[in-house]
Amino acid sequence: MTKPTDTMEKIVALCRRRGFIFGSSEIYGGIGGFWDYGPLGCELKKNIKDAWWHDMVRNPPPGPGGTEYQMVGLDCSIIMNPKVWEASGHVGGFADPMRKCPGCGHFVRADQLWETLATASPWLDSLLQVFTPGTGQYDSPRLMKWAKTKGKKLAPNLALVRNPEVTLVWLATRVEGQPAAPPTMQEFTQYIATEQLHQTGLQEPCPRCGAPLGPPAPFKLMFETHTGVEQNEKSNVYLRPETAQGIFVNFRNVLDSTRVKIPFGIAQIGKAFRNEITPRNYTFRSREFEQMEIEFFCHPESSMEWYEFWRDVRIKWYESLNIKSEKLRPRQQGKEELAHYSAACTDIEYLFPFSDEPQELEGVAHRGDFDLKAHGKSARGDENAFAVIDDDPSRRLQPARTPGEPGPSARFVPHVIEPSAGVDRFALAAITEAYTFDEGRASPEFMKFHPRLAPIKAAVFPLVAKDGLPEIAEPIYREIAKHFPCQYDAKQSIGKRYARMDEAGTPFCFTIDGRTKEDGTVTVRDRDDASQERISADPNVILRFLNDKLGLH
Ligand SMILES: [Zn+2]
Repeated sequence: MTKPTDTMEKIVALCRRRGFIFGSSEIYGGIGGFWDYGPLGCELKKNIKDAWWHDMVRNPPPGPGGTEYQMVGLDCSIIMNPKVWEASGHVGGFADPMRKCPGCGHFVRADQLWETLATASPWLDSLLQVFTPGTGQYDSPRLMKWAKTKGKKLAPNLALVRNPEVTLVWLATRVEGQPAAPPTMQEFTQYIATEQLHQTGLQEPCPRCGAPLGPPAPFKLMFETHTGVEQNEKSNVYLRPETAQGIFVNFRNVLDSTRVKIPFGIAQIGKAFRNEITPRNYTFRSREFEQMEIEFFCHPESSMEWYEFWRDVRIKWYESLNIKSEKLRPRQQGKEELAHYSAACTDIEYLFPFSDEPQELEGVAHRGDFDLKAHGKSARGDENAFAVIDDDPSRRLQPARTPGEPGPSARFVPHVIEPSAGVDRFALAAITEAYTFDEGRASPEFMKFHPRLAPIKAAVFPLVAKDGLPEIAEPIYREIAKHFPCQYDAKQSIGKRYARMDEAGTPFCFTIDGRTKEDGTVTVRDRDDASQERISADPNVILRFLNDKLGLH
């Protein structure tokens, strides 16, 4: 049986070999958390973005109960006035205290140190196999032996490994000093990380190399740069960590320049940047990534209905593009996970081969009126600055509930439903889902992309590059290429050419052979079952065939 990690290795190798994804600046050794999309990868990404824009912005599904609504697009700058990030809570709040290891340079989140040591520290795991603290019995020879063997390899910077004699003296003093209260797991771990107890006090070790960690310090998740010539606090600006804020700050502009009315949505596709501490899992957690975000503005009374609407629309969208439903795991966040202003949030998760736990592709969040009020207060000094007039007569004409008090306000700050998806994450899910291995085929690895996502839709091959076959094949290729991304290939054996197209995920290959000259037909080969049939070589017939089979137009 193939292990998921093996599958992931095969996928990464295919992506590199066939030009889906390369490491960024590879010839200089690469750079952690950044990726380049090659010729096939950038077509795949473009197809994802085009499908999203088509299905969500230009041709969105009807609203709940057939309600009319409008969708418009926006393309904001990446660098914005830094006040945007103060109002949104990103400056200040977006910084988790981190602890840096002076030994290996690793960063650990301060609030997760003990959890990381307990679950993800190879050296501590190894140590605990030979020794269990908390019993009151401290077997110094065993600790010493571990320090001089396994410890040397696994935790070269741990005090117990660097200077076992001194470290074990401190531990022994502690154990003998309070025989009734042996050190806990946590205290024991601190003792074996401490060499100069009197100078430094008890230390806490790096989960990777054992060196004593530095003090917690705020770690900035936003990339900073400067505008203008002078580089100081005043010229500080940030690369946006999400595209959403550009939409909120343009809410009034869009209302004033178009005829949209509540309920309506604003959509944006664009790059965002986060200085992730540990970029990992291939392209999944990158420092530069692309988002597809919608901010949908609605009346507070109907906001839960719209939230459920968008949650269901977004799940169905992934399924419509061949993301199998059993790997797609929508997960409603528990009350304790929700941001204080959020009424509900669903993470649409996908089970990647690199993890046992499903990972987030998209979050659909009910954000209440938090964002528009925050910007109203920050930019205009009035949290109701971005309120809109309620033109629903049933609400506006409502009488006062009690005499002498005003009726419900005729203005309201819209509530926001935010479906926020990652382009790169979906690209990785689409690649993972498409990857198929079938030993029974001449070309065992193939990519079963949905036709809308396939980077190349068709290929045209003359069986041999002579006998007048290229002269027939080239015009057919040129005609198809006017309508579909298509490739022409006359080199190598036909089997190798099919294999190349299988790895690119091309749904159909058309081969011009000796019989074409006799009866005017070509062979069509289907990517998924490798079956072949013959159809007319007339380009119009071939185009009709592709239109029917691909279902794109
Ligand atoms: Zn370290």
